[in-house]
Amino acid sequence: MTVVDTLGRPVRDLRISVTDRCNFRCTYCMPKSVFGRDYRFMPRRELLTFEEIERVARTFVTFGLRKIRLTGGEPLLRADIEVLVGMLARIDGLELTLTTNGALLSRMASALRDAGLDRVTVSLDSLDEDTFRAMNDVDFPVARVLEGIDDAAAAGLPVKVNAVVRRGVNDGGIVDLARHFRGSGHTMRFIEYMDVGATNGWRLDDVVPAAEIVRRIDEVFPLEPVEPAYTGEVARRWRYRDGAGEIGVIASVTQPFCGGCTRARVSAEGKLYTCLFAVGGTDLRALLRSGAGDGELAAAIAAVWAVRTDRYSERRTEATAALPKVEMSYIGG
Ligand code: SAM
Ligand code: SF4
Ligand code: SF4
Repeated sequence: MTVVDTLGRPVRDLRISVTDRCNFRCTYCMPKSVFGRDYRFMPRRELLTFEEIERVARTFVTFGLRKIRLTGGEPLLRADIEVLVGMLARIDGLELTLTTNGALLSRMASALRDAGLDRVTVSLDSLDEDTFRAMNDVDFPVARVLEGIDDAAAAGLPVKVNAVVRRGVNDGGIVDLARHFRGSGHTMRFIEYMDVGATNGWRLDDVVPAAEIVRRIDEVFPLEPVEPAYTGEVARRWRYRDGAGEIGVIASVTQPFCGGCTRARVSAEGKLYTCLFAVGGTDLRALLRSGAGDGELAAAIAAVWAVRTDRYSERRTEATAALPKVEMSYIGG
């Protein structure tokens, strides 16, 4: 059964946050001023269990889901995450991916691959040591993330690399990142800095438009556009004219793509959100723990999706940026 929302969009992708914790304090995501020593993360009993996550995933599959991304917080901090990967990998016809900051990837890449993970996205905002350490705000070195990327590739996992670009912070390193990953087989993707959550103090002036990112790279390494691989593809793709691979740009601010947005999100405690910028979600955990049957769970999810009207990025203004939205580390990026 397919379910479409009020704008005719089906649900094709599910992002599942497996923890709200993180070992980084990226200034644009979990600033220390908010997520400091006294911050109360969720106790373990609040998190969906692996069995609960699998049930939710299998229910979404009945609506035509094609892809699951595990995220967080930092998903590799969730104990025994490879066991969950194994459980989800057994669901037929799904692409299973994970987004990580890469800090624990070296030691976990083989287990994740063996468990059935299809690919991995590693976040790396800069190759410049001082810039990267300042952005992750826990003094984490670039080299360890690069090792994680190498070890993931060696384990047989296709890798994409994501960088969030913030004007005046890391935009000076855009071409360096492009140069480093050109010809490596790993696609480098640049993400416009977004006003997710309510803590990062986002201003439109901090955003480097995707068109500018492409222009800066094109000046050094000529690029040409690539047709989208499928409708609703989030990243706009460009290929190097000399055949050294591709880059992607995710222009959620300057070229919003809500019209093709087929993504649902489930937070670590089991709330279903139909938009990254939502202010509220639907409690699936209560339903799961009340002994609801499969039909009841499916009906609840379908009911939420059927009334979905979200297109936040198409309506964004400096004023909407100040709304009390949930944090990205909680809802799952
Ligand atoms: N901890 C993992 C990581 O960093 O890859 C997974 C969770 S993180 C919230 C997922 C992605 O969201 C990362 O690539 C991160 O850079 C991105 N992100 C976080 N805050 C953002 C923001 N304000 N604007 C754009 N992207 C953001
Ligand atoms: Fe952690 Fe990822 Fe957020 Fe950085 S972007 S603080 S690594 S959850
Ligand atoms: Fe989808 Fe909401 Fe992002 Fe629009 S703003 S693309 S509806 S998650």
